[in-house]
Formats: sequence, structure tokens, C-alpha cells
Amino acid sequence: MIQPYIAAEDRYANIRTMYCRCGNSGVMLPRISLGFWHNFGADARYDRSRAITHYAFDHGVTHFDLANNYGIPYGSAEITFGRLMADDFGPYRDELFISTKAGYDMWPGVYGNWGSRKYLMASISQSLRRMRLNYVDLFYSHRYDPLTPIEETLQAMVDIVRQGRALYVGISNWPLEPLKQAVQYLRERDVPLLAYQGRLNMLDRAPLENGILDFCRQEGIGFIAYSPLAQGLLSDRYINGIPADSRMAQEEYLTSDKRTPELLAFLRELQQQAQQSRRTIAQEALHWVMEQAGVTSVIVGASSVDQLADNLEF
Ligand code: NDP
Repeated sequence: MIQPYIAAEDRYANIRTMYCRCGNSGVMLPRISLGFWHNFGADARYDRSRAITHYAFDHGVTHFDLANNYGIPYGSAEITFGRLMADDFGPYRDELFISTKAGYDMWPGVYGNWGSRKYLMASISQSLRRMRLNYVDLFYSHRYDPLTPIEETLQAMVDIVRQGRALYVGISNWPLEPLKQAVQYLRERDVPLLAYQGRLNMLDRAPLENGILDFCRQEGIGFIAYSPLAQGLLSDRYINGIPADSRMAQEEYLTSDKRTPELLAFLRELQQQAQQSRRTIAQEALHWVMEQAGVTSVIVGASSVDQLADNLEF
């Protein structure tokens, strides 16, 4: 028998400090959002995934970030989310801001990848079914498709909003030039781009260097940073070795060749800096991302409640 979930009454106690306006839209997002890429698929324990989401929502994290292909197998993180909706979050739907994406390989054949209208339309249908939602708050193009006309991808996104299957649209991982075209195209159709989602952390500062963060700030588009801990490198996780239950031990998305002497030297310095500001290494790394002008929200991953608790104290 599953224990019923009742959200903490004081979950918005820190609302003044915890939320940030997403660009020049009406949407407020928590400074820390929770990502479902790892630790929420069929390969993860449901009770653990569930405890992490409870902790998040109980502490004001209202934004959960998903994609069609999150979890092993693909789609299973959205299925877990659907189960959470049914078990726990149904009464709280209007307090949640849920995003999903399509753009990477999802199903076999030529219609389950990239940026065609065919793919995006089918994908949002599938995502809503898996997540047991009538609509998502934010639907992203997960990556730029250089071989599909940009208008085809963008018009599909506009139509998804017009159909009521998403409230807002976002773009992730697109280069600057097509991003500029997208902003104009979407604005002309009264479906302004809400947010850009890009990787930003102390080890990967690309959005600062390629002008994307500045562009978003100037255009009133929210910037949502992903992998702020460089998948865990920017924490104490790998200082003394590679824990058996860590992402690196799986040698897939985070490989052990990233644990270089240079990284360990960087971490030693970061640890000193963190101690001076009475933070953990992860908190120091998150603080750095949060401080970059134009960053609306930072999406963290967590394999335990303890990690999330640490991150929320940034
Ligand atoms: P992070 O950089 O936050 O890495 C998360 C991992 O770091 C955790 O799984 C855990 O590793 C470790 N960790 C987290 N907190 C701590 C802590 N306090 N102390 C020690 N270790 C810690 O983010 P992700 O790479 O997971 O990405 C976050 C989210 O961003 C994704 O879930 C997804 O929603 C989004 N994303 C979007 C992408 C896109 O293309 N748009 C691409 C990638 C991510 P361990 O599991 O080993 O315990």
C-alpha cells in the first residue's frame, strides 16, 4: 500500500529568494530545478525517485525537466513521472511547471529523431501519454536540425502551442544564428520563445563565450542551465576515486577519462574556495552558475535526497 503524499505546508517559505522571472515572460521559475535525465528511468528504484521529487516539491522546486528519451529505456523517465502524477502530484498540477523535449533519437526508423514536423507532433503525443498530462508547460526543440527547414521545426512548435499541448516553447543546444532566426519567427507568430536551455558550468563556459547567454538576456529570453555540476565532476564525488554507484562508474555519459590530474587540482582549489565561503564543493559550483547574469534557473540532477538537499542550500 503506497503512502499518500501531502506536500509540506511551508514549501513556499522562501519564495522571495527562490524564484526568478523567466526572461520577460510572466513565468517565475525556481532558481534550482530538478532534472529527470538520470535516476528516474526504469533502471532506477521508484521509491528513491519518488523521495527525491517529494523533497524537491516540499522545498519549493516547482520545475521538473524531462525529455522524451530520458531514462533507460528511453521514455521511462516520463513513465515514472506519469506514475508520480497519479500517485502524488495530481492535486498539485497547477503548482508545477513541467518541460519535455524532442530532438534526439527516440524510436527506430527515420521519423523518431531530429526536427521534422512528423517527429515533433508524434513525440509530444507520446510524451503526454507517458506523463499522464493534458499539456506540458514548456516544450523544447532538443537540438538544431541543420537538414530540416527551420520553419518546419518552428511551425510545428507553434502548432503544438495552438493545439493546447504546450503552454510555451523553448530551444535547447541550438547555435546562435539559428537561435536568432527562431526568436524572430516565433515572435511574429505570437508564440515568443520562453527559454533557452544550455550547458553551463565552471568547466564548460560555452554560453558565456559564444554570445548565447548575452543574446538571451538582451532579448528577454530565460536561460536555463543544465549539468551545472558537470554531471557530478564539480562535487566531492570523485575526489577519492570512482564510487561504484556513481554515474562515472557506468562509463557511458560520464567516462573515467574525465577524472584527470588537472580536474583533481581544480577541485582542490575549489574545495578551499568553498570552505572559505562555508559551502560544499557542489554548492560553490552551483553558486557560480547562478551568479552569471541572465541565468534564470539551474537544473540539477540528483541520485539521492541528500544530494538534492545539499544542492538546495547553495
Ligand atoms: P548535474 O551536473 O547536476 O549532475 C548531476 C549528478 O551529479 C548527480 O546524478 C550526482 O551523480 C552528482 N551530484 C549531484 N548533486 C551532488 C552533490 N550535492 N554532491 C555530490 N554529487 C552530486 O546535472 P545533470 O548532468 O544530471 O543534468 C541535470 C539535468 O539537466 C538533467 O536531468 C536534464 O533535465 C537536463 N539536461 C539537459 C540536457 C539538454 O540537452 N537539454 C543535457 C543534459 C542534461 P551520481 O548520479 O553519480 O550520484
